[in-house]
Amino acid sequence: AKSSGRDGFKVFEQTRPEKSLNRLTLLEEMRTGIESGEFFLEYQPQYNLESGRIVGAEALVRWQHSALGRLMPAEFIALAEDSGLIVPLGRWVMHEACRQNKKWQDKGFAPISVGVNVSARQFRDTGLIADVSAALADAGLPAQFLELELTESLLIQNAEQAVKLMEGFRHIGVNLAIDDFGTGYSSLASLKSFPLTRLKIDRSFIRDLDFDESDRSIARAIISLGRELGLCVVAEGVETAKQQAFLASCQCEIVQGFHFGRPMSADKLGKLLAMTSMP
Ligand code: C2E
Ligand code: CA
Ligand code: CA
Ligand code: CA
Repeated sequence: AKSSGRDGFKVFEQTRPEKSLNRLTLLEEMRTGIESGEFFLEYQPQYNLESGRIVGAEALVRWQHSALGRLMPAEFIALAEDSGLIVPLGRWVMHEACRQNKKWQDKGFAPISVGVNVSARQFRDTGLIADVSAALADAGLPAQFLELELTESLLIQNAEQAVKLMEGFRHIGVNLAIDDFGTGYSSLASLKSFPLTRLKIDRSFIRDLDFDESDRSIARAIISLGRELGLCVVAEGVETAKQQAFLASCQCEIVQGFHFGRPMSADKLGKLLAMTSMP
């Protein structure tokens, strides 16, 4: 039934007649799929531009559906959020990412930070700090090697509570990144009011760097602003050597994108870590 692409729910609505039943079915399948281990994580490496070393990896969830094959987040995250299933799914993602990162450390690789995406719905749940602490404790992973990726819209929805929750995370030592930076409405205010450790420049500012002079100015300004504020700056969606060279000239600290590596299995990332950890 899934043939026409990967652009979200419409795929299912177009190819199957009873769309509301279909949505319910998928929801039920998601519920059982979480328990039966149909979800898995891929990891996209993040490189320090100066040293060329892998310093982190973003965990990205996928669903190996028994009938539909591999589903990408665009095809199920919205449904998970609407239904509340993002809470158990997010909890699984958190545990799995921490466990995997500890495994890499136990193999003797130079420690990296693992980034986990957090939805607004999870962030509203006051149990989140307990969930995250449990994930760290179960894995035996020190908190400094976990980073939560939060979007601006999530933070702004309930800014006061967001600050409190963020302070709680900083207190236990978890790092906090603002994701898709620059796409929200009050970017500058966010940087001032939230206890962040990292800033991820949205892909939309990186995409046209090779030919758009104003995007170059914006990217350069965001990078130096981040640096001035003491944040670690990550450029996402880097696809070309030219973009890389420009970002290096701006002294952007960390880069992530297809040019350096697509999201990959934990095994594959482990092989990369093994290579760069060799004396
Ligand atoms: P995001 O957090 O902005 O994640 C980056 C997305 O950009 C990933 O897509 C990644 O594969 C893609 N990407 C990375 N480098 C490049 C590049 O150079 N060019 C292009 N064109 N794309 C690149 P993916 O894996 O499909 O994830 C999409 C979104 O789904 C994520 O966007 C995030 O918002 C959400 N997501 C993924 N995993 C989770 C999760 O575990 N929990 C939650 N709540 N959301 C998740
Ligand atoms: Ca992200
Ligand atoms: Ca992003
Ligand atoms: Ca995004």
